[in-house]
Amino acid sequence: MRTKAAVAGAQGEPLTITELELDEPRPDEVRVRMVASGVCHTDAIVRDQWYPTPLPAVLGHEGAGVVEAVGDAVTSVKPGDHVLLSFDHCGRCDNCASGHPAYCREQFPRFFGGRRGDGSTAFTSADGTAVSSHFFGQSSFAAYSNVAERSVVKVPDDAPLELLAPLGCGIQTGAGSVLNVLAPPAGSSIAIFGAGAVGCSALLAAVVAGCSTIIAVDVVPERLTFARELGATHTVNSREVDAVEEIARITGGAGAQYAIETTGIPAVFRQFTDALATRGHGVVVGAAALGTTAELDIGSRLPSGITISMVVEGESVPQTFLPLLVKLFEEGRFPFDRLIEHYAIDDINEAFADSAAGRTLKPVVVF
Ligand code: NAD
Repeated sequence: MRTKAAVAGAQGEPLTITELELDEPRPDEVRVRMVASGVCHTDAIVRDQWYPTPLPAVLGHEGAGVVEAVGDAVTSVKPGDHVLLSFDHCGRCDNCASGHPAYCREQFPRFFGGRRGDGSTAFTSADGTAVSSHFFGQSSFAAYSNVAERSVVKVPDDAPLELLAPLGCGIQTGAGSVLNVLAPPAGSSIAIFGAGAVGCSALLAAVVAGCSTIIAVDVVPERLTFARELGATHTVNSREVDAVEEIARITGGAGAQYAIETTGIPAVFRQFTDALATRGHGVVVGAAALGTTAELDIGSRLPSGITISMVVEGESVPQTFLPLLVKLFEEGRFPFDRLIEHYAIDDINEAFADSAAGRTLKPVVVF
C-alpha cells in the first residue's frame, strides 16, 4: 500500500513529507495506522547521523495508533486494538529473558539498523530506493507502518493516543530512570541535569517517589520556571552559578543522594558526578556522538562510593511500565501532558526546531 511519511534524506537536512510504498507485514509484525508520534531528541541526532541509521529513513519511535492488520504469528493484538509503541527487542537473549529488554543483545541493530533481521526494509520510495524502516522496531513518522510485535503495548480503546504517544521512549526513560533504577526513598534529594522532556519526566517521577529536595539544573530560564511548576523545590541556572557548589549549598554540604544526567554534554557529566553525595547514585541517559568522552575525578570520587549507571529506556519493560505511567496519569499524579505540544505531521520540521530551540518540551505530531 501507499503511505504518507516524513523521510530523513540527508545528514542534518529537514525531513521531507512524501509518499512511500509499504510492504506487507511479516508474520511477527503488526501494521499500525498511526494517530500520533512523539518527537524525541534521539530522532534529531539520528537525522544528524550521530548514530549510523542508513538514510533515507523513516525515523520516529514514540508511535501510537490503531492496529490495521497482523501477521500470522501475532498473538498479542488484533485489528482495531489501540496501541502504544515502544522499543523492539529479541525476547530470547539472556538480558531479555531476565527482564531487561532495553539491553537486548540485538539492541543496536533493532534500534538503529533501519532493516529487518533479513536485511529488508518495509518502505520503498517512488524511484525504487529502499528507505530504512523499523527504527526502534517502529518508524512511526509514517501514517502506516509495519512494526515489530514486541514494540506494541495494548491500551484501552478510549485511551487518548495523541497524549500517550511519547510515553514509549522519552517519558519512559526519565520516569523509569527514577522509579526503576534509582528508586529513591521518600525524603531523598535528587538533582536533575537538563530540564527537557526526559529531565521533566524524571522530575515528575521524583515527585511520585516522594523526594523532598528536587533540584533542576538547566541553562534556559523558562525551563527552570516550568520545572518549579512541575514540583522542583530548587532550580539552578548553571550558566550563572557553579552548579556543584549550588547543589552542595542546597543540600547542606552533602551533595545530592540521587542524580540524572540528560544533556549528554561532557562538562555537565563532570558536574553531575561531582554533585553526588557520598554513596550517591547517578544515572546517565543523555546521548552523545559515538566516541565522546568525559572527565571523572577518580582521585576525589573514589572514596565517595558513588554509583554511576548508564541507562537505556529507564530499564523499563514497556508492557508493564507504560500501563503504570498511564495509571499514574489518570490518578493525576503524573501530569506529563503538561510537557506536550501538538503539530500536524506536515509541520514536523517546525516540531524539531521548536524542541532544539527550547520552545517546546515534547512535540507530538498528529496524522
Ligand atoms: P531536550 O533537548 O528536551 O533536553 C535537554 C535539556 O538540557 C534542555 O532543557 C537544555 O536546555 C538542557 N541543557 C543544555 N545544555 C545544558 C547545560 N550545559 N547544563 C544544563 N542543562 C543543559 O532533550 P530530551 O528529549 O530531554 O533528551 C535528553 C537526552 O536523552 C538526549 O540526548 C536524548 O537523545 C537522550 N535520550 C536517551 C534515552 C536513553 O534511553 N538513554 C532515551 C531518550 C532520550
